[in-house]
Amino acid sequence: MVVGVLALQGSFNEHIAVLKRLGVKGVEVRKPEQLLNVSSLIIPGGESTTMAKLAELHNLFPALREFVQMGKPVWGTCAGLIFLANKATGQKTGGQKLIGGLDCTVHRNFFGSQIQSFETELPIPQVVAEEGGPPSFRAVFIRAPAILDVGPDVEVLADIPLSAIETINSNPAIQKEEDSTESGKKVIVAVKQGNLLATAFHPELTADTRWHSYFLKMVPEIEEGTSDIVSTSTSN
Ligand code: GLN
Repeated sequence: MVVGVLALQGSFNEHIAVLKRLGVKGVEVRKPEQLLNVSSLIIPGGESTTMAKLAELHNLFPALREFVQMGKPVWGTCAGLIFLANKATGQKTGGQKLIGGLDCTVHRNFFGSQIQSFETELPIPQVVAEEGGPPSFRAVFIRAPAILDVGPDVEVLADIPLSAIETINSNPAIQKEEDSTESGKKVIVAVKQGNLLATAFHPELTADTRWHSYFLKMVPEIEEGTSDIVSTSTSN
């Protein structure tokens, strides 16, 4: 078994490259039957409306939903998080098809448009800290969503204080959401719910492999060290 990476659009190559650096084989998934040959799935960042249209075109929705419901590990980053959410709000969400399964409401483009993309140091969550390394990680937010509320089975791994983001004061949409969130100060940017992991940022665009290592630990076959592990001597 190998790790599948949904390769319809977005940063799938970057995820496959990180998996390779960790000595794990990642394969591109574009057709429903390819999901039968992977132990787990990463849904990359990109543009969730486009991804949904392509998934529809390739008749992937039933197989993706079944994969999630079977309890196979699935990690959505950014657009992938939106794709996994039960509900999406914010810009251009009308009629947008989602895989669902992750009991949360996600707000698309929460932090603003492309120009308001940002990077920030976030404390590494306890679970990921088990991988070792520095106490924080570089979180890259590109037209990123934020999670506004979560169901009872969802574990919040990381949130972000809105005051920490330079761009927020110039973004009226964020100010509005800030007022309407319960804490008034933070939004959720990483969660886990059983077999599902979701991050609003892009670990695959940094040199920090700890989020990928953490996800791989959710994949029993890999944890047990089976033939998924490829020779690291070929990795760059
Ligand atoms: N804003 C994008 C969307 O709504 C997500 C951006 C990303 O994946 N970096 O789909």
